[in-house]
Order: sequence, then C-alpha cells, then structure tokens
Amino acid sequence: MLNDPIPPHVDPRKLADRGVTLEGSLPLSDLERLCDPLSDNVGTVQAKFVFERDERKAVVIHSHLDVEVKMVCQRCLELVTLPIHSECSYAVMKEGANTQSLPKGYDVLELGEDPLDLQALIEEELLLALPIVPAHHPEECQQPAGADEPEPSEDEVTRSNPFSVLAQLKRDPNV
Ligand SMILES: [Zn+2]
Repeated sequence: MLNDPIPPHVDPRKLADRGVTLEGSLPLSDLERLCDPLSDNVGTVQAKFVFERDERKAVVIHSHLDVEVKMVCQRCLELVTLPIHSECSYAVMKEGANTQSLPKGYDVLELGEDPLDLQALIEEELLLALPIVPAHHPEECQQPAGADEPEPSEDEVTRSNPFSVLAQLKRDPNV
C-alpha cells in the first residue's frame, strides 16, 4: 500500500531474512533538516525499501525515494517545484567491520545492535539528492535567457520538460 506510514525504526537483519519490501509515505514536515533549505515543508515522501540478503548472505537494502520540493530558483528567484528521485543500495555492516570486500555500488551502513533509524536514512539520502543550484527548466524560467529567443509555445514546453510530466504521473490523486 502506497500510503502506509514508513516505520521510523526497523531491524534490517530480520527484514532481510524475511525478504520484506516496505513501501509507504511520510510527511515532508517530519524531516526538519531536509526542510531547512526548502521554501516550505508541504509535501509527502514516497519511499520504498527492499530488504534482502545477497549471495554472500550480507544484509542489503535498496531504497527508492520520491518527493516534490519547492526551492528558490537561483536564476529568477521565483519558487520552483522540483521532483526529487533517489535510489541507493546499502550494505549493512557491523560497526568496525572490514569493508574492503564490499561490492561496488553499495554504500556502507554501519549498524550495531540498535535498530536502524529509517527516517534519518531517508532524510540523509534526500539531502544528498537536492540540487546544489536549484533552477527552473530554462524554458520555464522567468529570467529571459536571450532577448532574441522566441517564446516557446505551450506544446514545446510540455514536450521538452519530461520532469513536469513525470511529476504529474507520480502525483497521488488521493492527496
Ligand atoms: Zn527560474
């Protein structure tokens, strides 16, 4: 179910043993540090976590995160709505474990006996996924790129901006 809340803390080893996929949402306003660089904290993070053991029996987590955030465009200083998508693969390791044998493409997640703070993980991953210089798509920006450039027609804007189409597809009609 897409609208189940994501549990804030989980035991990834147990979930990996059972091959669990967690899918759900959490309000953007729960992630204070993430909201700091944003223009407002209105929105919902859609999150999916696949827990499994790889061929070496190590616990791995695959994350898929989606959220729409509002930031200030650095070109025209107007608000811009940005769809943020992030995917990551984590290898759960004991604290102080040797990470030399880690397969490529995995981020190390050191974990002792405490449960995993899933909410903090989401926040950290999304913070890294935010654009360093937020800006509109050039054709949607208020700042004219060049005086001689003709105004793009509405059709052109729609076709040339796959992100806005994607964002519409992902918008939950129930929200
Ligand atoms: Zn702009």
